Amino acid sequence: MPYSRKGATQGINEADGGNIVKAARKVRIKTILTGGVVITMEDPVEAHELDIAISDGLIFAVGTREEIAGLKEADTKIIDVGGQTIMPGLIDSHNHMTLFGHNLKAVNLSPSHISNIEELLYSLRKRAEETKPGDWIKAWAMDETRLAEKRYPTKAELDEACPNNPVSIMRTCMHVMIVNSRAMELAGITATCSNPPGGELVRDEQDCPNGILFELGAMNLIDKAIPHATPESCADALERASGVYVSEGITTTSEAGAGWTGNPNETAGFQVACQRGQLTPRVCMGIMESTYNLFPKDKGTGLFTGFGNDALWIGAIKFVADGGIGARTAYMSKPYEGSDYCGVLAEDPASLKERMEIAHKAGFQISVHAIGDKTIEIVLDIYEDILSRYPRHDHRHRIEHMAVSRPDLLDRMKKLNITAVVQPGFIYYLGDSWISNIGTERLKNTVAIKTMMEKGITVAASSDRPVTDGNPWYIMWAAVVRKTIGGNTISPEEYISVQDALKLYTVNGAYSHFAEDRLGTIRSEKYADLIVLDQNPLAIDPTLLKDIQVKKTFINGELVFEC
Ligand SMILES: [Zn+2]
Repeated sequence: MPYSRKGATQGINEADGGNIVKAARKVRIKTILTGGVVITMEDPVEAHELDIAISDGLIFAVGTREEIAGLKEADTKIIDVGGQTIMPGLIDSHNHMTLFGHNLKAVNLSPSHISNIEELLYSLRKRAEETKPGDWIKAWAMDETRLAEKRYPTKAELDEACPNNPVSIMRTCMHVMIVNSRAMELAGITATCSNPPGGELVRDEQDCPNGILFELGAMNLIDKAIPHATPESCADALERASGVYVSEGITTTSEAGAGWTGNPNETAGFQVACQRGQLTPRVCMGIMESTYNLFPKDKGTGLFTGFGNDALWIGAIKFVADGGIGARTAYMSKPYEGSDYCGVLAEDPASLKERMEIAHKAGFQISVHAIGDKTIEIVLDIYEDILSRYPRHDHRHRIEHMAVSRPDLLDRMKKLNITAVVQPGFIYYLGDSWISNIGTERLKNTVAIKTMMEKGITVAASSDRPVTDGNPWYIMWAAVVRKTIGGNTISPEEYISVQDALKLYTVNGAYSHFAEDRLGTIRSEKYADLIVLDQNPLAIDPTLLKDIQVKKTFINGELVFEC
């Protein structure tokens, strides 16, 4: 479609003689971004040479160089981006920012750092040398499928490496934890312990818990034994995370959910960070239903989705209905490959329904973690039932992950108007373990972004950081190429265009946050959340999308990152 100057020019009026003047209201143009190639993300998604005038945190106008030059005032700052590409700031619709910020100080066991058990133990031993006896050693991002030995470290190995410290290792999926004896002692996990609700203590040949814990119900036993980080410490973690986010072009992020580790200080951590100026991106703060009393009947505050301001507001209430494919804890309608095991629900369906109904009636947007097709089916049953009895216009309830779906489930999802929040990065980082765990036939329905979009389902995307690396350019690339680390391709029929990949992180992300009136595209009166890129994603080979570098990030028109 040819470029329409009329369509692209916004926020400015034409005066007599064709001069461009500011609208009647009093506006100061603080900044003009010039010399850029702009992808506004308005339809059709194209790149054009346009300038942008910014006033008081908002985009005032987008237009040709001549048009925008007419808005310049004596003290307007002119930033020439020298032919680089400008886009709306990116929206990561599901990640765990507090946890990631804490992890930045924990032992990193990701495959990029660690390739075998010996290296893993060496890292823990080294950290123990710097840690006071008795203090917790926390590690993250371990993926046993990418260790040479293809197994978890044993409790005995962890005891030998860290005899004087409790140790907890979070698997990359965040649904499995591995701990040592000291940690189990502090958590009160003994030989006679039975499985807690919503979790499993894996056992050895003597039927004693062996230090491997599946799912939140079990992991929370350990989390409860670890002193809660204070709101101030959570705020410091958020500051560390903020720096990484804005360097990647993320200007809005969805916390999925505050209180994930059972620490109720996490919500206050966001508020403290916001007040202290430590929280750079906008945060839509989802809240873990399992951690807080939210409803007046339980002496909760009764606040619901939308409370707050455009720097920090309450987002969806988060439920977790199953686990992940890598650890075979996602609940499937058919068994995992080579077994008769279908995974496990992390929730009793009747209890989940009761609590989701309360949340819906209380005005919350709901988000439910559902990875396996059987879980997705159960969650849709619940949504259908609740929405038929208590219809709510424009509820935008969500399903997080939608990893293994089925065509019949997608049709129901569209009918119920449920938003999908997917993680294309799982394809790259976790996809090889999916092939071995669910086989090739079911792979056809994994992270089926193209089919969902064709059916008219709104699909937003995210990293789920720290489950995978959170760089959005890697994640959008993964949605386009659908390659795994091992070089396999997962369901090529689900390839999407670069334009659609960009939508996942902009317009669709904004919609999933009820924020399409102020975020997600470059348009007058929206927030001046803008990023400057070293390459035009629409002009390069799509396989190079992951290499795009963010050169500048603006939030509210203020430069918050530059390199
Ligand atoms: Zn998550």
